[in-house]
Amino acid sequence: MAARARTRLGVLGRPVAHSRSPAIHNAALAAAGLRGWRYQLLPVAPELFEEVVRALPEAGFAGANVTIPHKRAALALATTATARARAIGAANTLVFGAAGAIAADNTDAPALVAALPVAAVDATALVLGAGGSARAAVWALLDAGATRVAVWNRTPARARELARELGAVAVERAHGADLLVNCTAVGLDGSSPFDRLPVTAGDLSSYRCVVDLVYAPGGTELIAQARARGLGAVDGLQLLVGQGALSFEQFTGVRPSIDAMRAAAADGGVAPSEASRGAAVDDSYRPAT
Ligand code: NAP
Repeated sequence: MAARARTRLGVLGRPVAHSRSPAIHNAALAAAGLRGWRYQLLPVAPELFEEVVRALPEAGFAGANVTIPHKRAALALATTATARARAIGAANTLVFGAAGAIAADNTDAPALVAALPVAAVDATALVLGAGGSARAAVWALLDAGATRVAVWNRTPARARELARELGAVAVERAHGADLLVNCTAVGLDGSSPFDRLPVTAGDLSSYRCVVDLVYAPGGTELIAQARARGLGAVDGLQLLVGQGALSFEQFTGVRPSIDAMRAAAADGGVAPSEASRGAAVDDSYRPAT
């Protein structure tokens, strides 16, 4: 019997209902004329992650993106992984091959470097945060030739550990640099980030470019303040589109329309119908709690 064509894609996470990835990828699928393909939310609890991932190829999935809290687990269950995913210790892209093969990559790292309006070579950077996205950012900047990458985190021990592992420098106070990269969850709710980060709005002039991984409706205060000062600015939606475009190409073999993805990202996210389809998948996998 011929193998079933795999035309399904999704994003595994929990919580994941807020994700704009379905809107972005479905726009790219439509623009590429990939009829019959569909990208959906895949909310799944950590204890069921491996079981769900292993079931996806048989259910017609060609691949999946992975977000909080599963990126490390995704790398651990892959049968092959890119050097950057291994070095970062986390994967955000899984591609399903034949006979149970699972290939892992981390597209957050190249997307960050590609989005920068200033060269990373010989640059200095201050990365805020020491979670999964900070690991990808620190590794990406050093790999791209940054001369000094400092890491600040609310919990300093985590910054020290990350810095030691990846060859960065842990700091307990902010200082000026070419790049300021916010990899904390601060700003997600649209509130002012300056009472929880080690910089004030006025301090932003000590940087040439501000990158905020967080995306919030209407943009984040950090990016608004950077733009108000005429600094280079990269917002979370740009990064989401960048990493999504790299994943899309791996899933489908087709280079996506960045314009279509950007328009969908700016449009305001997941249509209610997509969200409810994702919830239906969730119900079938999540234990009753
Ligand atoms: P994570 O692994 O859970 O790490 C969260 C980080 O935020 C930690 O460093 C944590 O510090 C810090 N943090 C949380 N609440 C804080 C607070 N109130 N004050 C100060 N620091 C706080 O998450 P992640 O995967 O790195 O993701 C971080 C953010 O980036 C999330 O908002 C995520 O949505 C976003 N993101 C965006 C993209 C994109 O494509 N745009 C990609 C990846 C991630 P502690 O260590 O002290 O807890």
